[in-house]
Amino acid sequence: MTQNELVMDLTSFCRELPKVELHAHLGGSLSQSTMLQLKRLYADSGIPDKTNAFFDEFQIAAGDTRSLSDCFQVFSIAHSLTSMPQALALATSLTLEEFQNDGCVYIELRSTPRETPYMSKKEYIDTIVQAIRRSSINLTIISKLIISIDRRSTSQSAEETTDLAIEFYQNYPEVVVGIELSGDPTAGQFKDFVPALTRAREAGMKITLHCGEICNPAEILEMLAWKPDRIGHGTMIHPRLGGTTETWEALCQLKIPVEICLTSNVNTKLIANYEAHQFKECCEAMVPVIICTDDKGVFATSLSQEYQICAETFGLDQSQVARLALDASQHIFDDDARKLVTDKILNFIECKEL
Ligand code: 5GP
Repeated sequence: MTQNELVMDLTSFCRELPKVELHAHLGGSLSQSTMLQLKRLYADSGIPDKTNAFFDEFQIAAGDTRSLSDCFQVFSIAHSLTSMPQALALATSLTLEEFQNDGCVYIELRSTPRETPYMSKKEYIDTIVQAIRRSSINLTIISKLIISIDRRSTSQSAEETTDLAIEFYQNYPEVVVGIELSGDPTAGQFKDFVPALTRAREAGMKITLHCGEICNPAEILEMLAWKPDRIGHGTMIHPRLGGTTETWEALCQLKIPVEICLTSNVNTKLIANYEAHQFKECCEAMVPVIICTDDKGVFATSLSQEYQICAETFGLDQSQVARLALDASQHIFDDDARKLVTDKILNFIECKEL
């Protein structure tokens, strides 16, 4: 087999492998084709989408010179294209379909409820929930929603989002599974969101926190000690990457599953290159890792591509790659779907005799 055939082989394997996506922001997951359809919808409705910016500006490639905070500006492009309920519903269904076409069998899509000139925060959540419910008729991918709290928001706004999240979790437990903290990591303080997050947890919701995107050992320790169900990124926890012995030991001891986003971390320069990622150290320390895309539109990637990059960077064979997907399925928030998804991956492993 030539090197090219081998690469092709791994590409189709990663594509075919039943995968779970546990860290995907709706606003950052919009593909070029989805954005074009959204632009058309705005044009047809006679409503300007308030942005002339397009895909070149939306995407953040490896050599991008924008700072981490600048990177957060790109989401305003996605927000301008999802301000109307019809557009938000279309963005949701097209994105779920794209994940399915990439071999993803289960997704926990996340999004930050926002008030726009065309909908309230409540209508924002309801639009996504109903789009997910409708998608379960046409699509085979099992889709859930995690409601995001933006670190830039006030405590009052976070409390309001939490009230809505709990309400939707109680009314649609088959769709809404959790709540998360994200947004510009240089803004806000974790401790200000603890009361809201604690209420969500007490109501039965699962919690995931963006953690370790910037060098802030004190906050990382607070977050880990609070014992979220999962953390996102977890980049600057290992001392080699800006963490401390204490932060790394806390993660190794608590073994909180880490949603890792390789291309996102390289393109936003959280790490110098793929080889520098903490993936290997996490595996050696038996800290569960889950391969995720973060923002597949912004970083021009896909879940199968992230699996392939991981396999190539860390020299994994097909059996090890398949077991990454299997291990990831253990950390999904929906208890009912977990066994179904795990069985699907196990069946694939058996059929491929891995
Ligand atoms: P949305 O919540 O509007 O559907 O998706 C976009 C939002 O997700 C951004 O405005 C930002 O708050 C959050 N987000 C997307 N990618 C990242 C990331 O890599 N790190 C953090 N901390 N937040 C992100």
